[in-house]
Amino acid sequence: MPLEFPVNAGRRNVRAARRKLSEKEPYVGRGPRTTSPRMDFLVLFLFYLAAVLVGGATICVCSRTSYLRGLVRGGTQVFSYIIPECLQRAMLSLVHYLFHTRNYVFVVLHLTLQGMVYTEYTWEVFGYCRDLGFSLCYLLLPYLLLVVNLAFFTLSSVTDPGAITKANELLLLQVYEFDEVMFPKDARCPTCDLRKPARSKHCGVCDRCVHRFDHHCVWVNNCIGAWNARYFLLYLLTLTASAAAVAVVSTTLLVRVVVLSDLHLETRVDDLGHAQVIDIFLLVQYLFLTFPRIVFLLGFVVMLSFLLGGFLCFALYLAATNQTTNEWYRGDRAWHQRCSQVAGAPSAEPQVYRNIHSHGLWSNLGEIFLPAAAAAHYEKKRT
Ligand SMILES: [Zn+2]
Ligand SMILES: [Zn+2]
Repeated sequence: MPLEFPVNAGRRNVRAARRKLSEKEPYVGRGPRTTSPRMDFLVLFLFYLAAVLVGGATICVCSRTSYLRGLVRGGTQVFSYIIPECLQRAMLSLVHYLFHTRNYVFVVLHLTLQGMVYTEYTWEVFGYCRDLGFSLCYLLLPYLLLVVNLAFFTLSSVTDPGAITKANELLLLQVYEFDEVMFPKDARCPTCDLRKPARSKHCGVCDRCVHRFDHHCVWVNNCIGAWNARYFLLYLLTLTASAAAVAVVSTTLLVRVVVLSDLHLETRVDDLGHAQVIDIFLLVQYLFLTFPRIVFLLGFVVMLSFLLGGFLCFALYLAATNQTTNEWYRGDRAWHQRCSQVAGAPSAEPQVYRNIHSHGLWSNLGEIFLPAAAAAHYEKKRT
């Protein structure tokens, strides 16, 4: 029997929603388009998702080796032969403006994307879910996460990350031990003309030295350092949670639509005129063509949840082991450089940079979430 989208729902609380849903024109089972469902939205989406995740993981793994830098250099050289010089200069200026100056481009992009996701969620997902009798608390959870996320986003963006000045230079010099590998004791910042405390770094974008420098984040247009690392971690956590919450609600809605419509029990007619059971590929294709914006939103937030989840795991790993992104990235290279400079370095020494700042999980997390208490603790220990 060819598939028809059923309209006579048996339950009163879904009748209105079903009426709305049935107004949409399904085409499944009505012609040749249903007979070649394999290369459909689901397959393409899974392909893109796998490509993005593998690409992200490769960049992450290779970023500490010279392989990626060599690849980028080679790619740049190839492009320099292909692209006209004026276009190259324009691209370099754009890259310089976007990544080497403080600007609000990524902040605006971030808020626009977030606004678009929540507009679609409110416009369609929320309305259909209400009609289908979803609990209000469940539907409001993404909004709650959005509010908390925006609060931590603002705090990450406006809080001083730990700028080193003449006034706090001496105090901050006392906080961390110098390891003489990445952080030699008598180093000075040539730009700020200040002594460099251990674990600090000069941020070229903000033009200042930052205490316990992690990285400069273009999405919040600020450095991440000792005083705002906690806000950034919570910002990342709530951003991942809000993307995952929107993904879960949208998935639940689509599954409910399929179940209430008995769509999964229906059959379609193949090329030879035989009735075939609807499979997952055809179901997703059907949903994509019936609810294109919701399925597109779902694909986007699922991809975002994976990417942000990966970045969150990395940030939590660094927090738990008391490392900054800067130390994780430069540590081993700095150690090898030092080994090659020091004649007769003992071969028994480990071949990797030794992190001297880790003092156990809770102490490490305390340093992120209570930076003032941690600084006072180090100061007391030294006096
Ligand atoms: Zn500096
Ligand atoms: Zn910065």
